[in-house]
Amino acid sequence: MKKLLSIICGGVMALSASAYTPITLPVIPADPALEAKVQKTLSKMTLEEKIGQMTQLQVDLLGGYDQNGKFKLSKEKMDTIFGIYKVGSILNAPYSYCLDAKEWNELIPQIQEYCMKNLGIPCIYGLDQNHGGTYTNGGTLFPQNLSVAASFDTEVARRAAEITAYETRASDCPWTFSPTLDLARDPRWPRFWENYGEDPLMNALMGAAAVRGFQGDDPNHVDGNHIAVSIKHFMGYGIPFSGKDRTPAYISPSDLREKHFAPYLEAIKNGALTLMVNSSSINGTPVHANPILLTQWLKDELQWDGMIVTDWADINNLYTREKVAKDKKDAIRMAINAGIDMAMEPYKVDYCTILKELVEEGAVPMSRIDDAAARVIRLKYRLGLFDHPNTTLKDHPEFGSKKFADEALAAAEQTMVLLKNEREVLPIKEGTKILLTGPTANSMRSLNGGWSYTWQGHQTNEYAKDFNTIYESLCNRFGAANINFIPTVTFNEKGAYGDEFVADVDKAVEAAKQADIVMVCLGENSYCETPGNLTDLHLSVNQRDLMKRLATAGKPVVMILNEGRPRLIADIEPLVDAVVDIILPGNFGGDALARLLAGDANFSAKLPFTYPREINSLVTYDYKVSEEVGKMEGVYDYDARVNVQWPFGYGKSYTTFEYSNLRVDKSKFNASDILTFTVDVTNTGKIAGKEAVLLYSSDLVASIVPDNKRLRAFDKVELKPGETRTVKLAVPATDLAFVNAFGNWTLEEGDFTITVGNLTLPIVCTQTYTWSTPNI
Ligand code: BGC
Repeated sequence: MKKLLSIICGGVMALSASAYTPITLPVIPADPALEAKVQKTLSKMTLEEKIGQMTQLQVDLLGGYDQNGKFKLSKEKMDTIFGIYKVGSILNAPYSYCLDAKEWNELIPQIQEYCMKNLGIPCIYGLDQNHGGTYTNGGTLFPQNLSVAASFDTEVARRAAEITAYETRASDCPWTFSPTLDLARDPRWPRFWENYGEDPLMNALMGAAAVRGFQGDDPNHVDGNHIAVSIKHFMGYGIPFSGKDRTPAYISPSDLREKHFAPYLEAIKNGALTLMVNSSSINGTPVHANPILLTQWLKDELQWDGMIVTDWADINNLYTREKVAKDKKDAIRMAINAGIDMAMEPYKVDYCTILKELVEEGAVPMSRIDDAAARVIRLKYRLGLFDHPNTTLKDHPEFGSKKFADEALAAAEQTMVLLKNEREVLPIKEGTKILLTGPTANSMRSLNGGWSYTWQGHQTNEYAKDFNTIYESLCNRFGAANINFIPTVTFNEKGAYGDEFVADVDKAVEAAKQADIVMVCLGENSYCETPGNLTDLHLSVNQRDLMKRLATAGKPVVMILNEGRPRLIADIEPLVDAVVDIILPGNFGGDALARLLAGDANFSAKLPFTYPREINSLVTYDYKVSEEVGKMEGVYDYDARVNVQWPFGYGKSYTTFEYSNLRVDKSKFNASDILTFTVDVTNTGKIAGKEAVLLYSSDLVASIVPDNKRLRAFDKVELKPGETRTVKLAVPATDLAFVNAFGNWTLEEGDFTITVGNLTLPIVCTQTYTWSTPNI
C-alpha cells in the first residue's frame, strides 16, 4: 500500500512509519557483499545439500524424553537428519510445550554445533512467538494481534514485536512465524483473533510496524536483538466460505489484489524476510500450488528475494486433502515448481529423496532448486547465523523484566474497548460491592487465548499462575472484601474449548440482589486453528441464560467480553448497563481491566472489526453499497439496512471528544496529488484521554460497485480536558484508486466523500487514471 500519513500535534510534524514510499525494485535492496557470500556457499553445495536446506522438520524427530520427562537430543537421530539428509531447518517446541529460556539455551546450541561441524551451514530454528514468547516460558506475553489493532496505535504493534524479538533471541531462536496478516473478515473463523482486524490498511500498517519491530530497519543485517519474520498465511485464509479453518475461499480478483494482498505488500516493502502460505485454496487452486501468487506476484513483480515456507504438512495436503495431486511426488513437483522454497514437512525425510528424484528426472528444474536454496542461505546470512549461530540469555538481561511487563500492561490498557456505559456505571467507585461471575472471570487461559505456552493455550492456568486473573486483579484493586465471586458457568478444562459446566446460578442471583454492581465475565476458552471451529456464532446458551437470570436482580450490570471473535449477544446486550470487550489482552489483562474499571486509566480503544448483531448478516464495514438495500415503504414494506451490534471503529471513553473544522488543501485532485486533511479535535470532557482519529473515503460512483467506505488513515492523539489539537492526515490520491473489472488499478474521476468523526467533506477527482503496473 502506498500510504502517507502524518500528523501535526501541537505544531510538531511527525511522519508515521508508513510514509509513502513508491515501490522501488527489488523490493528489498540487495547487498552485493552478502550476495557474493550466498553464491559462494551455494557453489560448493551438492544437490542433496541444497534439498536439505529446503527441508524443515519438527524438533521431536531429533530426540525424545528421558526418564525425568526432559527432552533430550539423540546423536543417532541427528546423524540421520543432519548427517544424511542435510536438513536446514527445525521448528516448534518439543511436543509443542514451551521451554524456558535456559532450556532453549541448552537445546539449540547443540543443534547448531552439530550443523556447523558437519554441514558448515547453521540450522535455522523457527518458533510461533505469536503474541510475545508463546514458546518461551518466563517471557512476556502481550495482547493478541486483534487486541493490538484495537489500540489504533502502530507503536503498540512495533514495540510488542521488538520485545518479542529480544526475548526470542534470548532463547537462541532467530525466526518467528509471525505476524499474521490475514484479514479477520469472518467471525466464524477460529483464527480471527490472530490478525489485526478486518481492514486492509490496518493490517498493512500494523503488520509493517510489527515487521520493523521484529527485524529492525535493515533486513540485510538483522542484529542479535532482532529476528526474521514469516508473514502469514499468504493469502485469503481469513474468509473460508464454510467459516471453518483451512477450507476454500472464493475471492474476486479485485478483492484479492486490492484488499488481501495489501498487508503482505506493505510488510514486504518494510523488509519481511520470509512468508508462510495459506493452507487452503482460493477459487479452487490451493495456494501452495499457485505459481501466479507465489512466483509471479511475489518473486517476479516485486523482485522479492525472501524465502517462502509452507504451512504445516501442506505439500502433503495437496494430495491427502486438496486432491489436486495424485501422490506425494506429484504434490512436491507442483509446490516446488509453483515457488515454494522450504517445506514444513514436518515429519518425514522422504521429501528429500523424492525431490531429488524429481530433479534427476527433469520434473523440477535445477534452476528452481538453486533459487530456493539461495533464498534459505541468504536468510541465514542476513540473520548473521554463519558468524554467530547462537545468541544467549546471558546477553539479553532484560528477558522477562519488570520493564517489559510494564509495557505489556500499558499495551493491554490501550486495547480494551468500552462499548456501552449507561447511567455512568463505570468507573466503579471505591467501596462498591461487586458480585463477580462468569466463565472468564478467573481464567488466565481466556485472557491469553491460543498460542500461549502451548498451541491451544490449554495449560495457561498453570504456566501463568503468577499473573492475575480478572478476579484476582479486582480483589487487588477494589479489596477482596468487596468482591463476591461465584463462578456459575465454568469451562471444562479437560474437554473441548466450548464445553461448559453450570452451577450455583440461583445462589448468584440471590447474591446479586445484595451487591451494588453485578459484573459478568463472558466469552471463550482458549483455542486455535481447526479445534476452534464453531457451529454457532451466538455466545453459548449457558452464558446468555446466566445473564438473563442475573438481570432479574435489578442491579446495574457490567458485561465483560473476553473472546477471540465477536460472539452474538443481541438478546442480552439490552439487559446490561455497561459492556467492555477486552478481546484477548494477555497476561496483564486482569490488571489492565481493573485499572480501567477503577478509572485509574482511561479507555481509548476502538473495534478493529464489525461486531455483528444478526447471524445472517456478517458484514464488514466496507461492504458494497448495494448490500444496503434500504428501506421501502408502502405496499412493499421492508427494511433491509445493514444492522450491526457495534460498527468498526466504535469505542467510548470516560471523556468526550468533538471534531470540528475538517478541511483539505485540494478539494479537486488527480492521481499525482497528495491530499492533506486537517481536523480539530477537542477533549470536551473532564478528564484526559486518547482519541483515535479515523479518516474514511467513499467513492460515490465507480465502474464496479463501490465499497460503502474505506479507512484511509488513522492516528491517535492524547488530549487534556479542554485541549484542542489539529490533526493532520495525508492521503496520496493513489490510495483512492481501486482494482477494476479488468484487474487494473484505476482512479476514476468523480465525487468522493471524506468522513472524519461526524464530519464530512466532498472532494472531486478531475481525471481518470489507470495504471498498467500490478502494484502502484
Ligand atoms: C499454523 C501456522 C504455524 C505452523 C507452525 C500451523 O498449524 O497454521 O500458523 O505457524 O503450524 O507451528
